[in-house]
Amino acid sequence: LVVSCISSGGLLVYAENVDNNEKAVERSRLDSKKRKKIVVLGTGWAGTSFLKDMDISSYDVEVVSPRNYFAFTPLLPSVTCGTVEARSVVEPVRNIIKKRNGEIQFWEAECLKIDPENHQVICRSTIENLVGENDFSLEYDHLVVAVGAQVNTFNTPGVVEHCHFLKEVEDAQKIRRTVIDCFEKAVLPGLSDEERRTNLHFVIVGGGPTGVEFAAELHDFVHEDLVKLYPSVKDLVKITVIQSGDHILNTFDERISCFAETKFQRDGIEVLTGCRVVRVSEHSVNMKVKSTGEYVVVPHGMVVWSTGVGTRPFVKDFMEEIGQGKRWILATDEWLQVKGCPDVYAIGDCTTVDQRKIMEDISTIFEAADTDRSGTLTIEEFQDVLEDIIIRYPQVELYLKSNHLFQVTELFKDSQGNEREEVDIEGFKLALSHVDSQMKSLPATAQVAAQQGSYLAGCFNRWEQCNANPEGPRLFGSAGRHAFRPFTYRHLGQFAPLGGSKAAAELPGDWVSMGRSTQWLWYSVYASKQVSWRTRILVVWDWTRRYIFGRDSSR
Ligand code: FAD
Ligand code: MG
Ligand code: MG
Ligand code: MG
Ligand code: MG
Repeated sequence: LVVSCISSGGLLVYAENVDNNEKAVERSRLDSKKRKKIVVLGTGWAGTSFLKDMDISSYDVEVVSPRNYFAFTPLLPSVTCGTVEARSVVEPVRNIIKKRNGEIQFWEAECLKIDPENHQVICRSTIENLVGENDFSLEYDHLVVAVGAQVNTFNTPGVVEHCHFLKEVEDAQKIRRTVIDCFEKAVLPGLSDEERRTNLHFVIVGGGPTGVEFAAELHDFVHEDLVKLYPSVKDLVKITVIQSGDHILNTFDERISCFAETKFQRDGIEVLTGCRVVRVSEHSVNMKVKSTGEYVVVPHGMVVWSTGVGTRPFVKDFMEEIGQGKRWILATDEWLQVKGCPDVYAIGDCTTVDQRKIMEDISTIFEAADTDRSGTLTIEEFQDVLEDIIIRYPQVELYLKSNHLFQVTELFKDSQGNEREEVDIEGFKLALSHVDSQMKSLPATAQVAAQQGSYLAGCFNRWEQCNANPEGPRLFGSAGRHAFRPFTYRHLGQFAPLGGSKAAAELPGDWVSMGRSTQWLWYSVYASKQVSWRTRILVVWDWTRRYIFGRDSSR
């Protein structure tokens, strides 16, 4: 008896003897013909979380990405100064996908074009010196676009040529080498003090979380390690953060941005707010001071550009093709399906969810809720459909919470504040008129990307089950994908490491925590969020090594 095991397209087929074996091959070939094919573009936060949660026993999954690894981006700022090694924050994609009970195909290539008409994507291998054809195309039944965003230079002259970015692992490694180079340059004989000072002026454009964290990390590196190695120039080092808004970390709670500004001031990190960089050249930054309108030239040794993200060109082309050409960013509906393009889904930084306004559907909702057709809604009638409404329009829940409305009766009060038993359509509109103002676009963060990836995987996993047995909100149709609840984001808080073993954190429920203990919280959260035990151990070892021996300052 020969027991052989053929793994084909995610199906494990056991055959009892060679004859059966052949039949099994044939059967699984037929099976895989029927099986829908999902192509995933990208192996970042969104793509990887999709793959991890995807049950591939009923789909064939193929992945295309120019990088054959996942990068744990929140630790990239630590890589810039050698606090953590680059190898410790990446996990090979093949390690992640091999763990599955079937097979996921991976192609190291870049998608050049999405062709929705023919259900295919055109790809090009990014490997140099390839023997054979570089270009190929893949057909899909469902396409998942998870390609992230690219750096946004706002077309500022000189940025591409003279600035460092902090987006990829290679960027972080390049920054690390350049920082050391700046110190080596500054100690060479024959330089004036002014020249040394310029070489040691580190400018960060953008006061968001990444820019601020890098500034803090660089400050620690300089003051904990480099001053001991380059004592002659230690007083000439300067770090400047240029921010166009009025405050750094302006997406965080006010208390945190205030704490960060005070801490930076104490540390000697200069923060220039209200300044817009208009040009960057090899040794200087030209900026406009918004309040006075004057232009200031700042000499620099190195600039890191960290001012937000933009859409990749091939995604832009795709948007043109499907009628989203006027938008800045690819839009999906609340089920993460690309608007105007069935069978294409988009998750993560490359996309935004176009949340439906309740006011657009208000009459339909009213009619559906008014079960006795009386032309008015009683509180009971409204209460009956409220749960369904909240599923479809999550802003309603946010509105009720943020206005401390715990009872529907409070929503139904008239302008004098009197409670009402029932409302007509006009009264209903009035009661919900401010709800849509609660809609906010989701931030471009790993948290959002990962939640979207796992939500979408869940939809695919339950697809057949849901089609057969729709369970969706009864108010708004119940067939097909509407059996799935729309995507809703759960904000679990965010961190801002500020250097000197201090961090700030915004936690759910309006909690703010700052200081040393928060840094320990940061260590434990980031260790636990690692995608594998391998990277977890490497990262914790790097932290320990830095604590004992300091950072490695060779270039
Ligand atoms: P990405 O993770 O960028 O992945 C995109 C993937 O698509 C990559 O694998 C890329 O190789 C691939 N790709 C690119 N072009 C193509 C193509 N043409 N064809 C196929 N594949 C392609 N978020 C937080 O929540 N907390 C943090 O602390 C935090 N810190 C950060 C620190 C830094 C330095 C940076 C840069 C980001 C940080 N973020 C953080 C943001 C977070 O990294 C992003 O929001 C997240 O990576 C978005 O996930 P994504 O999958 O959409 O894109
Ligand atoms: Mg991704
Ligand atoms: Mg990533
Ligand atoms: Mg997004
Ligand atoms: Mg009624």
